[in-house]
Amino acid sequence: MKILFVASECAPFVKTGGLADVVGAVPKALRELGSDVKILMPAYPSVKALLKSGKSVWRSDDLFGGKAQLKSVQAEGLDLLLLDAQHLYDRPGSIYLDEAGQDWHDNHLRFGALCRVGAEVCLNGIGDWKPDIAHAHDWQAGLIPVYLKQAGASSPKSVITIHNIAFQGLFDSSTLKILGIDDDMFTHERVEYWGKVGFLKSGIALADKVTTVSPTYAEELMEPEFGMGLEGLMQHRRVDLSGILNGIDLDVWNPATDKALKRNYTARSLKRKAENRAEIEKRFGLTANATGPLFCVVSRLTTQKGLDLLLDALPDLVGQGAQLALLGSGDPQIEDGFRRASKQYAGSVGAIIGYDEDLSHLLQGGADAILVPSRFEPCGLTQLYGLRYGTLPVVAKTGGLADTVIDATAENVKSKKATGFSFSPVSKEGLVQVIARTCEMYRQPELWTSMQRSAMRYPVDWGHSAELYQKLYQQMMVDQSTDDGNLK
Ligand code: ADP
Repeated sequence: MKILFVASECAPFVKTGGLADVVGAVPKALRELGSDVKILMPAYPSVKALLKSGKSVWRSDDLFGGKAQLKSVQAEGLDLLLLDAQHLYDRPGSIYLDEAGQDWHDNHLRFGALCRVGAEVCLNGIGDWKPDIAHAHDWQAGLIPVYLKQAGASSPKSVITIHNIAFQGLFDSSTLKILGIDDDMFTHERVEYWGKVGFLKSGIALADKVTTVSPTYAEELMEPEFGMGLEGLMQHRRVDLSGILNGIDLDVWNPATDKALKRNYTARSLKRKAENRAEIEKRFGLTANATGPLFCVVSRLTTQKGLDLLLDALPDLVGQGAQLALLGSGDPQIEDGFRRASKQYAGSVGAIIGYDEDLSHLLQGGADAILVPSRFEPCGLTQLYGLRYGTLPVVAKTGGLADTVIDATAENVKSKKATGFSFSPVSKEGLVQVIARTCEMYRQPELWTSMQRSAMRYPVDWGHSAELYQKLYQQMMVDQSTDDGNLK
């Protein structure tokens, strides 16, 4: 089967969050199952060097106001189609935001163009490669199903994956014309969302199948608390909706070989984690040889991630004799809060504000536990890395966190099933309690080590989930041939 992924990020080339990790990892797992996946993404400055070795497979003199070409490139074990359109993507800084931290004024064109070209690849192919299925990821690829539906019933089937429904890509209705979307598409059942053009809404409404990144989030999306205004549409799409849990790339996230660690280790040599912890203490200005656990956070600093609650819970965390090393960036208020906390609790709390891939690996390698107190979490990846690194996840019981972490109840500990700690409802009190429970377990080294080993055994690879995607594509192809038959 030939699958076209369309996405705005892909690790290791460009990453702002979990979307990139997923887009960079699933194609490899699907290849093992016999699928042929190409990833269409913009040629941002970070991938421009790759263009030189690429083969030009498509050109346009005017893609929403400038020249564009598509280059086929193989890199890092992935087949990429890089959309080279300087007027849209050749910009410094964030791929989504301008220098002032606002959305780029023309994001509708930047990602509309990605979809337009994606649809063209689906309809006409490139060379002798023509996708059987278009797989759109998040709002940036949300217009793929729109352009395909506009092209007619015989175009390839499409699936959209919702990585986070909070980001919807809403634009003024006046953008419709320039995006080349027919007026009759502007209805409540299709692309219109409260008078605006909704990229994600369109994708959900018009794709043949809709997936999200965990079974629990799939259920939650149909509730007002989590659906962010799209819960009615999600309910409407219920029969075509599935939750397929994210996995992780075990080659990239492997404590036995990870080059970002000071010392590599396995489930049988967990004591070696101490060298990584010592390195973290140095880098984060924490007191050496503390007796309590070292918690870490690697995250966007937003209220979604519940990190405002962690600020409130810090006196209790420190009071338990624990330490915290936080790496993240985002909401200026939360950033300031952690900067202040690292002064107030010098030696116990350390914060590095920024984005640093290697440091995120070191934290997983050296911390005892990773905190993820999210208010909502479609899947979450850092708790999966934590499992793999024997860094016990301490998580809110929501979305993918609820699906992947087995709480240390007395029963689960006894049967050696427990892999972490979970709490609900998500409140400061809940967080304080779960931190206390974690510290209590840490004081029982044998049980702690046993939990670390259970965590490291827990399957977090892509195997099963890739099979579910493959089955979904196969089902869509059957549906396609039935549709084609009906047309004749
Ligand atoms: P989200 O996609 O909502 O941000 P996920 O947990 O799904 O959350 O994925 C976040 C990804 O980004 C993980 O790979 C995590 O390690 C990485 N990450 C987040 N913040 C940072 C940071 N400041 N530095 C390095 N990596 C980060």
